[in-house]
Parts: sequence; structure tokens; C-alpha cells
Amino acid sequence: MDDLKPCPHCNSKDVKDYYVCIKCIKCGLSGPHTNNGCYDSHADFIDHKNAIKLWNNLTRNHGVDDKDLRDKIGALTHEQWSGWMKYLFSKCHKIGDKIIIPDWAIKRWNRQIDTPYFELTEEEKESDRIEADKFIEALKL
Ligand SMILES: [Zn+2]
Repeated sequence: MDDLKPCPHCNSKDVKDYYVCIKCIKCGLSGPHTNNGCYDSHADFIDHKNAIKLWNNLTRNHGVDDKDLRDKIGALTHEQWSGWMKYLFSKCHKIGDKIIIPDWAIKRWNRQIDTPYFELTEEEKESDRIEADKFIEALKL
């Protein structure tokens, strides 16, 4: 008999063979059904083989818990945003209850907003590459 791969959703190895489909006991995900999805009919050997094959061919995340990865990327995104806001505020002037963005910054940032990445200066691209490296590191499986 073919070995069953762990659950593609939660990576649990606690998966049960229901003959016409495979189901994860932990999260309840079931693989595609064969034999028209009828549990009570007698699936033949081909159906059983197909149920295993379909389950094992489902897209997997290589054992990395999706939730952990999303939080890792979420934390990086937040770090980038807060780093940028900190920089922006450091360049502004506070007058009463208002924050004034200096003219030079408005001009520079508007130019950057309207410039596609590949048309940025090498120095500007390098600063984005440093941020990209953090994502690449987080995505290493
Ligand atoms: Zn599962």
C-alpha cells in the first residue's frame, strides 16, 4: 500500500483512510472522493488507489505551518510599515496638532510613487532589496 502524506492543510499525520477518500482527523479536511463519493458502496481497488493518489497529490506547504508563515510575513510587513512611518514622521514638522511634510519630501516621495521599481536609481533599488532579503529569509523552507 502507498504511504499517505500528511494533511496538506495542517500537516497532521493523523489521517484516516475511508477507502474512497482520505480524511484528516485533526482539521477535518477530506481529499477528493472517488467512486462518486459514496462511502457505503464497495469501491474497487482502483478507487482506493486513486483516493490515495489524489490525497498525496494535493498541494502541500512543505511542512511549514501556514499560520506561522503568515505571521512571520505579517510581522515583516508591519516592521516595514512602522519603519517607514517612523522615518516619515522624523522628516516632518509638528505645528500645533498638525504634521507638516516638507516640500522636498513631497517632491521626492511623489517621484518615487510614480516610478516603477526597475526605473528607480540603484541606491533606491538597493534599499528595497534589503527589505526583499528579509522576505526571502522568511520564506526559506
Ligand atoms: Zn489537517
